[in-house]
Amino acid sequence: MLRFIHPAYLPTLFNALHAIGLADPGFNSLADITSCPGTDTCNLAVTNSTGLALALEEVVREEYPHLITSSSINIKISGCMNACGQHMAANIGFHGSSIKREGKVLPAMQIVLGGGVDPDGKGYIAERVIKLPTKRIPDALRLLLDEYEREDHGRYFNDFVRQHGKRYFYQLLKELARTDNLDDRDFIDWGNDSVYQQAIGVGECAGVSMDLVSLILQDAAEKLELSGEAYQAQALGDSIYHSYSAMVIGAKALLLSEDIRCNTHRGIINDFQEHFIDQQKLPLDRSFPELVLQLNQQPPSLEFAATYGRQAQDFVRRVFAYRQQNGGGDDKLVIGNYYRA
Ligand code: SF4
Repeated sequence: MLRFIHPAYLPTLFNALHAIGLADPGFNSLADITSCPGTDTCNLAVTNSTGLALALEEVVREEYPHLITSSSINIKISGCMNACGQHMAANIGFHGSSIKREGKVLPAMQIVLGGGVDPDGKGYIAERVIKLPTKRIPDALRLLLDEYEREDHGRYFNDFVRQHGKRYFYQLLKELARTDNLDDRDFIDWGNDSVYQQAIGVGECAGVSMDLVSLILQDAAEKLELSGEAYQAQALGDSIYHSYSAMVIGAKALLLSEDIRCNTHRGIINDFQEHFIDQQKLPLDRSFPELVLQLNQQPPSLEFAATYGRQAQDFVRRVFAYRQQNGGGDDKLVIGNYYRA
């Protein structure tokens, strides 16, 4: 967006932008597809989202030129379920996936419908409808747009989706999901000329390109800070709870660094006891549940908040030291394993 251009200069500006390919119509419309980098640069990507975006933009430009300026429908694509392309906030969204067929793997896209912000400003999360080979997604878009236009051209797309429900769209698209009629092209992703192969590494998006374990450790350190601040403010309940959180989060970081999955606080506390305390990896003068769950036994006094806070600091300090001495350089491996889990 270029602001404050004098109207008299608009034709000149337009011509200059047009000359360098920056004056295509359809900003923020159906023809302006959002895509994450996908397999272009992201190691977590399952499919090529930018290649698909170009293919779909071509479909819109060539076959639905009258919809190029429509803002009733937008399309967003993510190369995997992590959703950096915000596919769940799109009227028509796609995220990368794969389909196995007779020992072979082909690139696929999960289609989601009905997300985004409606004209009244209400937000919606899209619903999953069906997974299709990615090379058939342009045909799926044609079916969706034809059906939409056949019924009520111009209506906000999500109203059309809600009126029919996801089962209807599943039926509309399910012929494209058949895998008994695949041909060689179905095994080659957009923008590629070789057969699709799956591999995984460290991702591009903000959420997963960070070092997961050290990120969680920083979280534990932040909880300690919050505990101290709350203590200073005489908010003893908050201080105690932040101390508790710091210990549980610190334990979680070490469990994840050893590929032990963490779901509940109770599970983390018990697993930490089993994998770190019982095995003498990080000895304590009592069991981990006894240390952490003191908050259930003690009234939230000034004295307890101070003691518990110091214990939490000591515990988190030892967690950091343990991490330092044991595989702090394996973070990328941990992320990969965590992602697969
Ligand atoms: S991790 Fe993010 S950037 Fe990478 S493919 Fe998935 S959604 Fe796209």
